[in-house]
Amino acid sequence: MGNSILPFPDYPFVNSRELDRDALKRAGCFTTFRARINIRDNLANIGMIRADKDWATAKNQQWNSITVGCTFSPVGTAASFMFFECLPDRMEVLSYLNELGFLHDDDMETLDSELALNAHKRLRNALICEKDSEGKSPKSVAIMKKLFSAVVLDCLEIDLAAGRDVMRCYTDDWLKVLDTSSIPLTTLDEYFKYRFENVSLRTYWRMIAFGHGTPLSDEDFNLMSPLLDITARTYLLTNDLYSWPIEKYQNKDHIANAVFLYIKTQTMSEEEAITKVKQDVLDHEARFFLIRESFCKAHPDHPARLKKFVNVLEPSIGGYHYWCSTCPRHNSPKRIFPCVRMASTKRLKAMRPQLILYPGAPTPPS
Ligand SMILES: [Mg+2]
Repeated sequence: MGNSILPFPDYPFVNSRELDRDALKRAGCFTTFRARINIRDNLANIGMIRADKDWATAKNQQWNSITVGCTFSPVGTAASFMFFECLPDRMEVLSYLNELGFLHDDDMETLDSELALNAHKRLRNALICEKDSEGKSPKSVAIMKKLFSAVVLDCLEIDLAAGRDVMRCYTDDWLKVLDTSSIPLTTLDEYFKYRFENVSLRTYWRMIAFGHGTPLSDEDFNLMSPLLDITARTYLLTNDLYSWPIEKYQNKDHIANAVFLYIKTQTMSEEEAITKVKQDVLDHEARFFLIRESFCKAHPDHPARLKKFVNVLEPSIGGYHYWCSTCPRHNSPKRIFPCVRMASTKRLKAMRPQLILYPGAPTPPS
């Protein structure tokens, strides 16, 4: 079990409550990390739904209350776990931004890779006020531009400095990168290197800082880099494990997942590879505690903003783990079906026994 004492006890949590370990176990979590949820999950839920409604309205689609958001789970909205210490005045907008990010990723998944790369570039250009001269964007990208611009303005209005950092990350990192190069199927380290280039965890850190109302400098990030590196690896392994049941049906050239890496490089069966990634999650969590401990010993006199940030890392990943094990996004057919829309009926039927249904889930096609 991990540390139960805060690394910097002089900065206790005030906007969240700790989740019962038994509840985590019942949900199938095996993390040794603690998990917390923001006490205003209702606001996060409102932000998520607002993003979905805006997206549906802009696409001339009907939003209905049965539709669940990308970041929904029956135990709480993803933002409430990932940004559990978020201040009350920005919980709704942060959850909106988080949902929009997921919607954007899903939208890109439906385009072929060259089209998606161009669309991605154009969205970035729009946000950094460069002229879009590359022809017509897909309609959904134009819609996303509008929604992003509006929510970024909301963030800036709440907190100019921290909001600007979030905007910069979205344009510089998150919107710039997209899987186009081939995924290295060599070592776990090489794989992480590739993932860090393609998944902007920096955006996540900046969103956490925005939630706290305490922007961090580049020097702050450099100082914390060993700690952020192990946190990011743990996050990615957790994501890989829980998204594998869906990702395994994607185009084999585009699967970025440690389970797939082990199947390909270590001639493991799928079951063995899953067991290995589970063990990797635990090993990385154990390493996280060691690195955090030495980091805190080496830097006892951090400014408040850093102490708070170091304190939230463990429960934010623990909470993400809990969300992953409970969300329809990773556990329901609703998301599986669009991914395999090209798959044969035979394959769909073969998948059915594996589907985990949640209350209100749509009926799988027969
Ligand atoms: Mg994944």
